[in-house]
Amino acid sequence: MLTFRNTNIFFAALIICLLILQVWFLIPMYIYFSLAALYFLFLCYGSYNVGSNFFMKVLCSANTTEKLIAISFDDGPVQQYTPQVLEVLKEQKVPAAFFCIGKRIVENESLFRQVHEQGHIIGNHSFSHKPLFDLLPAGQMMHDVRMTDAAIKESIGLQPKLFRPPYGITTPAMKKTMIKGGYTAIGWSIRSFDTMAKDEKKLLNKLIRLLRPGAIILLHDTQKITLSILPRFIQAARNEGYEFERLDKLLNVKGYA
Ligand SMILES: [Zn+2]
Repeated sequence: MLTFRNTNIFFAALIICLLILQVWFLIPMYIYFSLAALYFLFLCYGSYNVGSNFFMKVLCSANTTEKLIAISFDDGPVQQYTPQVLEVLKEQKVPAAFFCIGKRIVENESLFRQVHEQGHIIGNHSFSHKPLFDLLPAGQMMHDVRMTDAAIKESIGLQPKLFRPPYGITTPAMKKTMIKGGYTAIGWSIRSFDTMAKDEKKLLNKLIRLLRPGAIILLHDTQKITLSILPRFIQAARNEGYEFERLDKLLNVKGYA
């Protein structure tokens, strides 16, 4: 299996072999540079593919043949779209997961409580969600993540166990943070790219085309296009025979400590 550990063992063995061979043969430097570049590519692959399980285990779908799926919203809550997203989910009786950003919880506390009170599961999505969050050392990452836990606990009295890596990037520091904090890392099997999408029809068609039993869909309750397609997406998924299950139930994991 392609993991960080196995990759390190493989490259270390390769370097040792080359160093031994160097006793008899001249190994050009570009071979070593090429190996270093290849190693770096492996690390990038592991970091940027949330489902690779390269650095750490991330749950990205449920192992089921039943037509059950879970919908998840990242980066909220925001006044602009979250209330309407909640309204659609209520009307359609769809339970969802909300991976909230800590600073937005603090800024929109009553809205955040509403998300919880409506029966959706809450997950931690870091406090700052800053672009370089994933490069933070474990100590600083833990501090950031704990701040969101504190905001959630202060508001709804619960300690979240589910964590979604910002940008879907994983690192050894994140693995340490997950273990130390007792979190379950949650990814997705369908990335909507709704933050960049412009065409509603294309987005909708893509989501429906990618549906599989056990799928976890990544959306954002910060996007106009997401709010706009949500009722049609729910209806289209149901027309295809899919039912919406809350993410923690679909994956059979504990949402709170
Ligand atoms: Zn995010």
